[in-house]
Amino acid sequence: MDFVFVCGWCGTECVVWGDPVVSWWTQKYQVPDEFECWHCGGESTSPPPPWTPAD
Ligand SMILES: [Zn+2]
Repeated sequence: MDFVFVCGWCGTECVVWGDPVVSWWTQKYQVPDEFECWHCGGESTSPPPPWTPAD
């Protein structure tokens, strides 16, 4: 599932893929600790949940 994270350098919204984590009672996703901005190329730390799902 894709989530929208905001770049900490330029403020651009970046779509980051979250891997589904198998769980019986809730839907969880695993995102990378850091993501690279497509706009400025900067590395930003992924924010804590809840995350905004990308359309
Ligand atoms: Zn950026």
